[in-house]
Amino acid sequence: MEKLQQLYEGKAKKVFATDDPELLIVDYKDDATAFNGLKKGTIVGKGVINNQMSNRLMQRIEKAGIPTHYVRELSQRETLVKRVSIVPLEVIIRNIAAGSFSKRYGVEEGVVFDSPTIEFSYKNDALGDPLCNAYHAMALHLATEAEIETIKRYAFRINEILREFWAGCGVTLVDFKLEFGRLSDGTVVLADEISPDTCRLWDSKTHEKLDKDRFRRDLGGVEDAYAEIMHRLVAHDEL
Ligand code: UDP
Repeated sequence: MEKLQQLYEGKAKKVFATDDPELLIVDYKDDATAFNGLKKGTIVGKGVINNQMSNRLMQRIEKAGIPTHYVRELSQRETLVKRVSIVPLEVIIRNIAAGSFSKRYGVEEGVVFDSPTIEFSYKNDALGDPLCNAYHAMALHLATEAEIETIKRYAFRINEILREFWAGCGVTLVDFKLEFGRLSDGTVVLADEISPDTCRLWDSKTHEKLDKDRFRRDLGGVEDAYAEIMHRLVAHDEL
């Protein structure tokens, strides 16, 4: 597989063309941003961890019957993925109140929901990724009704898969963000990444944060938290 020209550079990843028009290479960086790019920094080793963690979780999700963009890990930081056109929605599933939910509704962090919630944000940096509902997404032609139904079904199923897996690692899955894309034939697949950048992961016993909130909130021990969560995943994955 030949790595050709860079197509795109995002906040945490670069995307390259390959000699196959249906395949791209994603290259994970150590760069970290928060608050819509206002806070910038580096988390040493993050690119390697996010690449490897996302790939392991995507393979698990694929095995459970949900299609993903994952094809093959090429190196510590590089992965071959199917080319998709991204549905411009951030799909957020929550099991426990935290972050923007706690702030918006005045609910203390850590309150456990009776059942998981879903919400969408319109992926648009200039607008600050505003919250939107399914009707707004359809009005804006971001996705069709059928696509939104598929996305909701996949997202809740992914929550079950990930929650069970992380529980086995002694980790509570608080919330996470997913992105979906369309293959050239229109099939909706899980895309982007699943990592401590995009999930809130708390130690089940101590509730210690093992995710990007350590960076967002200047809690210190950022690199150690990423290494610890990866260590837990690998230990459990190899059982
Ligand atoms: N999230 C993300 N990218 C974003 C916004 C949120 O990956 O642009 C993830 C975040 O890591 C958390 C979940 O989505 O696991 C819910 O985030 P929230 O809406 O609470 O926003 P935040 O407090 O991070 O601004």
